[in-house]
Amino acid sequence: MGIEFHTSVDHPAPRSVSQAITRGLRGRCPRCGEGRLFKGFLKPVDTCAACGEAMHHQRADDLPPYVVITIVGHVVVGGLLMAEKYADWSMGLHMAIWPALTVILSLLLMQPVKGGVIGLQWAMRMHGFGGMPDLPERQPLPSAAGQA
Ligand SMILES: [Zn+2]
Repeated sequence: MGIEFHTSVDHPAPRSVSQAITRGLRGRCPRCGEGRLFKGFLKPVDTCAACGEAMHHQRADDLPPYVVITIVGHVVVGGLLMAEKYADWSMGLHMAIWPALTVILSLLLMQPVKGGVIGLQWAMRMHGFGGMPDLPERQPLPSAAGQA
């Protein structure tokens, strides 16, 4: 007697969050890991060329910049403080290194981080990745009754 797996809209197949994020970080489709995820610097493909997974509806919004700012901020501020404590750099050297490092790290991290966020959203079935469009909340607003 074999094990049978049944999936449906109510019980969709589980998706690995870590695998989807890793594939996104590498700029690959979170579903198959083969097709390219981006057609531009930050513009995802409409559909995966390898497996056909739709990507046009993804909405990473502001999360990738927040993640990049957090990473770059820790590296640059930490490095600056370490250099101040343990090295005797001139102000000119500081001014040459830290702004340039901030820009370079931000540019290098932006696409992989956005890919990772798209992978996370795909694995969590957010923003259309569950096969259903996102609908607005249908819960009624809190009643104003009882307020004077
Ligand atoms: Zn794919």
